[in-house]
Amino acid sequence: MSALSVTEKLEILADAAKYDASCASSGTKKRDSATGRKGGLGSTEGMGICHAYAPDGRCISLLKILLTNSCIFDCHYCINRRSSDVRRARFTVKEVVDLTISFYRRNYIEGLFLSSGIIRSSDYTMEQMVGVARSLRDDHDFRGYIHLKTIPDADPELTHQAGLYADRLSINVELPTTQGLQQLAPEKDARRIEGAMAGMRSAMEDMGEARRKYRHAPRFAPAGQSTQMIVGADGADDRAIIRRARSLYDRHALRRVYYSAFSPIPSPSSVLPLKRPPLLREHRLYQSDWMMRFYGYSADDLDAATDPESGCLPLDIDPKLAWALRHRGIFPVDVNQAPREMLLRVPGLGVKAVDRILMSRRHRRLRLDDVARLTSSIVKLRPFLVACDWQPVHLADSADLKSSLGPMPAQLELFA
Ligand code: SF4
Repeated sequence: MSALSVTEKLEILADAAKYDASCASSGTKKRDSATGRKGGLGSTEGMGICHAYAPDGRCISLLKILLTNSCIFDCHYCINRRSSDVRRARFTVKEVVDLTISFYRRNYIEGLFLSSGIIRSSDYTMEQMVGVARSLRDDHDFRGYIHLKTIPDADPELTHQAGLYADRLSINVELPTTQGLQQLAPEKDARRIEGAMAGMRSAMEDMGEARRKYRHAPRFAPAGQSTQMIVGADGADDRAIIRRARSLYDRHALRRVYYSAFSPIPSPSSVLPLKRPPLLREHRLYQSDWMMRFYGYSADDLDAATDPESGCLPLDIDPKLAWALRHRGIFPVDVNQAPREMLLRVPGLGVKAVDRILMSRRHRRLRLDDVARLTSSIVKLRPFLVACDWQPVHLADSADLKSSLGPMPAQLELFA
């Protein structure tokens, strides 16, 4: 391992990091130094080479690497597991710091996403990761975005230090169910994972409270915490995945849950499925996640959008339309009178369009054309809306209505 050049290590450890989806940054401000000094190196905002997208659409370019792809654990779904026959590499703390600074200076990146296999022990690995963040902040005055993947078994004091240096912390729950975790990652413990998440939430709240009282109190992971679930490696259906995500948002105030379609790895374990699930399944889960976070749907609501037999979201239409087709009785809604929460349930109307509708209708009654200007899919939307010059003739049964809407785009079009 020691004979590898930094470039060779980078090739191995950047490739090994590609399986982790949970690196989008969101909504953090550039740091001032501990002394309150302005300036410094790095920015958490702006455009560049894209590696990750924030929920608000901003693009953040990150150096996304592992500290090492060696690991003492043997999670079946992971290419870096102990029994995997892959080329191993390991960065030193200084190498990661130098790479980050050098890439930043060349304007390749605006931040760092650092994860790692577990070497020697959870504490030792976490110390190395904290060492990277500490050196970037303290030795190089780096104020760009840092996302550290934390290790649930590590000493809470190390996680605390990580939160003082990083913008975002994350711990992967990995599988949607405890049974799935026991089967595919037997050395991991669901209770310890959630215990570590709860600890991070408390620290964020305590530090937030301290900062409201004392302006110079340190910040703790100001961009919050996130997690990732692998989709399709175990038998969990979309209902189970959505319910777990809802519970994680509620209990640990996560900023994001990421979904990663299981991707077959070289030399796979015999307990894994042979095929990857359709990527569209991952996409539908992201849409359902969006519906929970921005449109007010509960996990029960989303249950109603799933197929009763498979427990999964339909792939041919998006979950918002699936829900609307199952609740035809509450449509059409009057665009000039319906409350915000009802307008948000109309397929094709997104948050921005609804807010513009609410603003415009204070001054005049809206026609169908007015709504058409706010959406790219008025044909899909018409059966669900009443405007002052438009009343749908009648809502056919679900199958007729679905076919009358024509082919559905795979993208977020119906979410506007
Ligand atoms: S602990 Fe992480 S790196 Fe190690 S085998 Fe499991 S998933 Fe892979």
